[in-house]
Amino acid sequence: MEVKYVPTTCPYCGTGCGFNLVVKDRKVVGVAPWNRNPVNEGKLCPKGNYAHEFINSPDRLTKPLIKKDGKFVEASWDEAYKLIVSKFKSYKGEEMACLASARVSNEENYLMQKFARAVLKTPNIDHCARLCHASTVVGLAGAFGSGAMTQSIADIAESKCILIIGSNTFETHPLIGRRVMQAKAKGAKVIYADPRFTPTAKQADLYLPFYSGTDVAILNCIMQQVLKNGWENKDFVKNRTKDFEKVKEIVMKDTYSLENVAKISGIPAKDLATAAEWFGKSGQSAILYSMGITQHTTGVDNVKSISNLQMLTGNLGRPGTGICALRGQNNVQGACDMGALANVYSGYQSVIVPEMRKKMMDAWGCEIAEGKVGLTVTKLINVLADEPGKVKCVYIMGENPMISDPDLHHVEKAMKNVEFMVVQDIFMTETAKFAHVVLPAACYAEKDGTQTNTERRVQMWRKAQDPPGEAKADWQIFCELGKAMGFEKQFPYKSAEEVFTEISRVTPSYGGMNYARLEKPEALHWPCPTLEHPGTPILHKEKFTHPDGLGIFTPIEFKYPAEVPDKDYPLILTTGRCIWQWHTGTMTRRSESLEREEPTGWAEINVEDAKVLGIKDKEMVKAITRRGEIKIGARVTPGIKKGVVFIPFHYVECAANMLTNNALDPTASIPEFKACAVRIEKIAEVK
Ligand code: SF4
Repeated sequence: MEVKYVPTTCPYCGTGCGFNLVVKDRKVVGVAPWNRNPVNEGKLCPKGNYAHEFINSPDRLTKPLIKKDGKFVEASWDEAYKLIVSKFKSYKGEEMACLASARVSNEENYLMQKFARAVLKTPNIDHCARLCHASTVVGLAGAFGSGAMTQSIADIAESKCILIIGSNTFETHPLIGRRVMQAKAKGAKVIYADPRFTPTAKQADLYLPFYSGTDVAILNCIMQQVLKNGWENKDFVKNRTKDFEKVKEIVMKDTYSLENVAKISGIPAKDLATAAEWFGKSGQSAILYSMGITQHTTGVDNVKSISNLQMLTGNLGRPGTGICALRGQNNVQGACDMGALANVYSGYQSVIVPEMRKKMMDAWGCEIAEGKVGLTVTKLINVLADEPGKVKCVYIMGENPMISDPDLHHVEKAMKNVEFMVVQDIFMTETAKFAHVVLPAACYAEKDGTQTNTERRVQMWRKAQDPPGEAKADWQIFCELGKAMGFEKQFPYKSAEEVFTEISRVTPSYGGMNYARLEKPEALHWPCPTLEHPGTPILHKEKFTHPDGLGIFTPIEFKYPAEVPDKDYPLILTTGRCIWQWHTGTMTRRSESLEREEPTGWAEINVEDAKVLGIKDKEMVKAITRRGEIKIGARVTPGIKKGVVFIPFHYVECAANMLTNNALDPTASIPEFKACAVRIEKIAEVK
């Protein structure tokens, strides 16, 4: 029996751990450690350990499907392409929209945005980064000129004080949690701010439970304490930043005193003071955050407040400092880098700058979509639902908005209004059911390619087995469809590597990368502009990316979430992930070992709230918001702040996003998943 070990990169969270796929008789049968990978040094979390289980699931899509009389029937690739081409050619550019994917490779995201802009001539290309870290891209780019995590994952272990806010790191990014523990073992203080007493809270030296949506008040209060006690880094503020006085004026207001912010956030004043002292005095403080910060109508404000705090304390550009925006999905960083966003080409080159558009037209050898910002995912759903006929045709690759987007009744209305929809995926997702054509795609283990993790490190996927049935790699599908649409010259690639060669040619931050360099386990962090460049694990060492090299302070006032509790909906709903499942559950729920551990969702309710409502642990309850209601089992616990309810969003049978609010951050268009008003009602006890 032939056994092979194929090193590759985890398809789940943005940590980007490496492991070996174990291949027997040309089929993937397991996962084995890859000790030389620097991200995780051979260690894995449960999802990584079982990352082989869904690959050969009997549910995999194996043939193209065309919907006839409301039912899917199998079709040949030729039939599917013929139908798609005739439909695509019947629409004008802006009547079409594409959704790329944080799950597929860089090469495939690059090709989808090229297909949208060069073939369909539509500016409407976006993906689910809009739902998780759009505020990071906008907020950090505004402060520093570059919208990505500033440090490497390994560097977290060098920190002397780590503030984790809005991230349950030990469950959602466990191998980053490992670096936090390494820092703690060397004496670092760990401060954890979150409404839930999560596994991350258990490891903290100081736990700050707060009401969802009060982040800016907390961060401004910490800055006030830093300034009052003289813990700011005066040299850094003077030499490397501008507009500090504007921020000082805001944060020194009485609104952000310890006592007042204790009232706003629910964190005891003495704990706020301790947090400020530990953070301000350590000399090497890092901040880790995730969607608890970004998924708010004030998402950009939250990120800019974090940037303000790090500039004030001079905690940027050195080992053990920085801002670690932990990206949720395996390749959400790469999908952004590749220009699968409504406002930028690859490498964040703006679509509204004529020279950038010309550069892409020259590189691609054809006219492309007008140089204007297209519809974001969130705006696209609104247009589809509320302005029927404006966008008629949607092409979706590896996304599942029917679970991942807020206010699912509204999303369903949007899906039903699409005249012609193509979905390209590895399983029949809740979204694919609405499609007119479904194309079967290869998964991460069945193709070569690259993905970029949260620390900007570009790593390889390596093909370990053939795709099932007639499924094909997404990049191959784009090549064949591009050719069928008459764009053979623009889609000539024989391999993923050839696509990457073009990416490095047109994307300055990837300019010095090629497969030969990326083959090494340590891979490369962008920016890596030339072949001689070693990559950049730590950003902003000497200067920021803005033309004048300075970081920009932004004064931010605290604002409440778009929807706050009232007498009809008296509690705050927040949503998130658990360690056993991932995103919309498309892969993890087909992994027996993972599904067994957390087979359905739950609503976490504080013991005091449960007592008032007469609800016992495990009892079925209704969670109701202005958008909808679900039935779900209650978990009554002291480990969540009184007044707050938590529901994981992975589960279709009790979909948290039936309840969430699609109010958007005005700049980043990210929805407010993390705070809306909810009512919990008793139903009946579970036997
Ligand atoms: Fe995969 Fe993330 Fe777990 Fe690493 S931490 S094994 S990348 S899910």
